[in-house]
Amino acid sequence: MPTPDFDPFRFDDLLTPAQRTLRDQVRAYMESVVRPAINDYWERAEMARDLALGLGKLPIPIIGGTLTGYGCAGLDNVSSGLVKYELCRVDGSVSTMFGVHSGLAISSIALLGSEEQKARWLPSMVAMEKLGAFGLTEPERGSDAAHVQTTARRVGDYWVLNGQKRWIGNGTIADILIIWARDEGGRFGGFVLENPRDLPGFQAETITGKIAKRAVHQANITLEDVHIPASDRLAHCNSFRDLNAVLEYTRAGVAWEAVGLAAGCYEIALDYACKREQFGKPIASYQLIQAKLVEMAAELSQMQLLVWRLAQLMDAGHASAGQISLAKQTCAAKARKMAGQAREILGGNGILIENHAARLFTDAEATYTYEGTNEINLLIAGREITGISAFV
Ligand SMILES: Cc1cc2nc3c(=O)[nH]c(=O)nc-3n(C[C@H](O)[C@H](O)[C@H](O)COP(=O)(O)OP(=O)(O)OC[C@H]3O[C@@H](n4cnc5c(N)ncnc54)[C@H](O)[C@@H]3O)c2cc1C
Repeated sequence: MPTPDFDPFRFDDLLTPAQRTLRDQVRAYMESVVRPAINDYWERAEMARDLALGLGKLPIPIIGGTLTGYGCAGLDNVSSGLVKYELCRVDGSVSTMFGVHSGLAISSIALLGSEEQKARWLPSMVAMEKLGAFGLTEPERGSDAAHVQTTARRVGDYWVLNGQKRWIGNGTIADILIIWARDEGGRFGGFVLENPRDLPGFQAETITGKIAKRAVHQANITLEDVHIPASDRLAHCNSFRDLNAVLEYTRAGVAWEAVGLAAGCYEIALDYACKREQFGKPIASYQLIQAKLVEMAAELSQMQLLVWRLAQLMDAGHASAGQISLAKQTCAAKARKMAGQAREILGGNGILIENHAARLFTDAEATYTYEGTNEINLLIAGREITGISAFV
């Protein structure tokens, strides 16, 4: 058998030596530590917290992605994307735990906090001594998150929060949780809850019965007259538009995440097809299987080039919201299809979690839906292309 070439259009050649070293570091951790252990966590629906915490101890720092200061890794956008790619190539749960902490929570404070707030919260978060969470979605406000119903009322030296949040990753274990709410003047803002579980009126319950990302937990959160110090409102967020800086940054990361997931699926499918024999020959020798593998290779190559170019634009400060949404939407949709093809090529074995394709297959469903659903990202890109908003 020929050695399967997992890199059809030599994506590797586009990377700098430093980017390859970083990529190899994360890949080694994911292959040696996460892959052997993750299926047990997934099957028990147990938070793979220890596996995610190990990402904070790698020799080349990755926490905080492209953000700078307060210990953040200060990576370029390709490097930051490659981290997400490598995490998701092996597992979506660890990737989501990392993405919520290092992406959503840390970048909210880094991009929207005052210097005093950054100095207070970021160093311990970047060191992964304190874990972050990001509470935007509500039971009645998913895609329409700009119109959150959670309220923040000013009473003396406190903000008093009331409302409900849903799907909040790390929500049951977070040390620092950002709740997005509207104040009495209707202004949108980020309210930072330190040690939320100790706050009277705060309740977080793990959502059970998930088919995807089972080794990371999301929470339903209830806030009943939760008091936080007035100084813990993020200083530079007064509108949903301000939050878009955070959402665009993390959404680009999810585009890379989808490409990594697709790469993982392609590699598993190609390897299996070359080894599995039916009718006396490897199934890879049959034309119908080759057609699927070629389609997957072509899709993967297109996705890799797309996110690499997006990262270049982001490094130059030229990426638009529409481009980022287009990249997330198209990569997540392609990854979802490829995950189905990989599972199919493994036949019955594709249903079994031990072969890893089944886990990636279900993870792809969450990647397709979070950080803006397929439709919402289409609408953002459509608005930019046509100049007409079609949201409502
Ligand atoms: C695993 C997982 C982790 C998550 N982690 C977090 C987290 O850490 N923090 C957080 O705040 N949120 C989180 N979320 C929430 C996630 O961002 C939302 O699920 C997502 O925004 C969609 O909201 P919804 O599920 O309420 O769907 P809805 O908004 O109710 O959408 C239902 C369907 O209607 C479609 N739709 C909605 N509006 C339109 C429209 N105008 N035109 C056409 N179609 C439309 C959608 O595309 C979708 O197909 C997570 C979700 C999941 C599944």
